[in-house]
Amino acid sequence: MSEYRYCPGCASPLASIEQIEDGGPKTRLRCAVCGFTHWNNPTPVLAAVVECTDRDGMLLLARNVAWPAGASRWITASWRPARRPKEGWRARWRRNALTVDALSLIGVYDFQRLNQVIIAYHAAAHGEVRLSPELAEYRLFKPQDVKCWAGWNGLCVG
Ligand SMILES: [Zn+2]
Repeated sequence: MSEYRYCPGCASPLASIEQIEDGGPKTRLRCAVCGFTHWNNPTPVLAAVVECTDRDGMLLLARNVAWPAGASRWITASWRPARRPKEGWRARWRRNALTVDALSLIGVYDFQRLNQVIIAYHAAAHGEVRLSPELAEYRLFKPQDVKCWAGWNGLCVG
């Protein structure tokens, strides 16, 4: 996780400054010049367990080019400002040439190690997967062969 050192509003150095908040005094990275507070809110991540309805219900996992070999994980999509999650998903399915017949929310999970909130979906999809530039490979797994990542009970990996 990156450490913020300068104010994004006025470029002054940030400092640990105590201030009264709803819960009482709290020390956070703040800007003494313009009053900016670095809240360190978690980043929302859209993630999907993709069930391939044209492949006997096999699950589609993919590996990002930045990940080591064998580290297949569920499919993610970008959630850009002022857009709805389904717009992020539409872009993902289009890039990977998947047709999604049903998309439903599984749950929302905190992933504190990466300061993320995982918004998890189930996608029933079909089509011939096309790799997009950020994906090194994809693999299909039987649901019973997919296991959860140790240390976090919501993320599936192959
Ligand atoms: Zn500032």
